[in-house]
Amino acid sequence: MITYKCAHCGVELETEDSLSGKHEACPECKKVNSVPLSKFDLAKQKHAEKAKQLAEQAKQKDLAATARLAEERLRAHEEMLANENAAKAAASRAEKAQRDAAGMSNTEDGLGIIGTLCLGVGMLAAIILVVVGVRQESGYYVLGAVIVAANSVLAATLLFALKWILHYLRRITNAIEEGKKQL
Ligand SMILES: [Zn+2]
Repeated sequence: MITYKCAHCGVELETEDSLSGKHEACPECKKVNSVPLSKFDLAKQKHAEKAKQLAEQAKQKDLAATARLAEERLRAHEEMLANENAAKAAASRAEKAQRDAAGMSNTEDGLGIIGTLCLGVGMLAAIILVVVGVRQESGYYVLGAVIVAANSVLAATLLFALKWILHYLRRITNAIEEGKKQL
């Protein structure tokens, strides 16, 4: 049973639990009152509020955990990107060094080939001159042969010297780079 006072004439009223939260007319003054909640409905309302509060707290906790997880993922992703960039930069540096070394090596090979050609062509020309000189019985051809041979030897020597200078310069530069990397 629900007991309450009429809001209009103040008479004590008693009504069934089934009218909890509804409206009924006062038997004395006939005016309409809002019936208060029964003890059972009040408890039910309190429980519902408590449950709602707990659900809200759980949701907040869950949101915080989700935010932390998202932050961790973001940090991991940033770290991964930074590592990737560092690896790319290192790879491109290594590639450039390799290209430079290949270019230098090509220059050295080219110098060697030109030096050998110089020597070969010079010697061939000298031999032809000697043969022609002997046939014509002329000392001038032999003198010419000696000059051509000497010049080709000199040119080849200079080219080979340049080749070896470049070669050792490259080795020294590489050694310095290696030393820098180890420091
Ligand atoms: Zn009344």
